[in-house]
Amino acid sequence: MKIPLTNNMDLSIVVPLLNEEESLPELCAWIERVVNEHHYTYEIILIDDGSTDNSWEVIETLCQGNPRIRGIRFQRNYGKSAALNEGFKAVQGNVVITMDADMQDSPDEIPGLYRLIADDGYDMISGWKKKRYDNTLTKNIPSRFFNWSTRRISKIPLHDFNCGLKSYKRKVVKCIEVYGEMHRYIPVLAKWAGFRKIGEKVVEHRKRKYGTTKFGWDRFVNGFLDLASIMFVSKYGKRPMHFFGLIGSIFFFIGFVMIVILVIGRITEPGTGLSNRPPFYISLTSMIIGIQLFMSGFLGELIARNAPGRNAYLIEKKIGIE
Ligand code: UDP
Ligand code: MG
Repeated sequence: MKIPLTNNMDLSIVVPLLNEEESLPELCAWIERVVNEHHYTYEIILIDDGSTDNSWEVIETLCQGNPRIRGIRFQRNYGKSAALNEGFKAVQGNVVITMDADMQDSPDEIPGLYRLIADDGYDMISGWKKKRYDNTLTKNIPSRFFNWSTRRISKIPLHDFNCGLKSYKRKVVKCIEVYGEMHRYIPVLAKWAGFRKIGEKVVEHRKRKYGTTKFGWDRFVNGFLDLASIMFVSKYGKRPMHFFGLIGSIFFFIGFVMIVILVIGRITEPGTGLSNRPPFYISLTSMIIGIQLFMSGFLGELIARNAPGRNAYLIEKKIGIE
């Protein structure tokens, strides 16, 4: 049975997953229990991000057992951001809640997160794992630093940007594009898309029950590179010339002024050579760098103008989704 497209569905629960076969049945049963208790109309969208275990078979069985569960399967592993992005395209509910598949996020938090969006009018609520059950050294300390710097740069007062448990108004997830590894910065993406009412809620965090974490050390390096690029793209993505052009002009101007001074010196004081003076080479280099930056700006403009703006993922199968 297919659920017809409707504007009256209360809730969509989006779960990205990679090799989480053990926890899926338990997770879905728990979600169903909570949403049924509160009489929400809902859908659960499970996005299999290229699992190599039996996750997809488990999803197929779950979909057969409950038509409100839908599945999307990627051809290969594209990452959590791609999975969330694809899930967001498919959601129909007025409120959208994302959660990890590993049962570290508790479905008991759903009603609270739902009410903050539906009743209190928030655009987005980010979970805050105030008490974490992860390894202190490899996760908690770097994560504090990461959150502190993201808070400073983005000026969004959240404690825990990267919490998997979040809730949104539907229009928020339809407006943002979670690409690369930007799932860490969804609140920032939402803010840049123009949504101001972003809040947080302390949520229960649990120990991973099955399987292992999918993110290693490289997540910190990637995290900071992504933060740099998100700040750049959100500010200059549509107008790269304003960035490159400005810096290019400064370089060119400095070089040009230096060379004019040198030439004037050469004219007024005959006998002082040009090619044997270091400032001459510095000014030439500065002018060349300036022109290069200018050209980068032009190229950036061309690319920005012609970019399709959407990522395309190869999807192998879908259940119950047009
Ligand atoms: N995940 C995913 N694709 C990936 C990596 C992770 O869909 O490439 C899912 C994973 O299955 C889980 C969630 O993202 O549902 C969070 O991952 P994990 O629990 O490994 O992260 P941690 O809690 O250790 O930060
Ligand atoms: Mg986890």
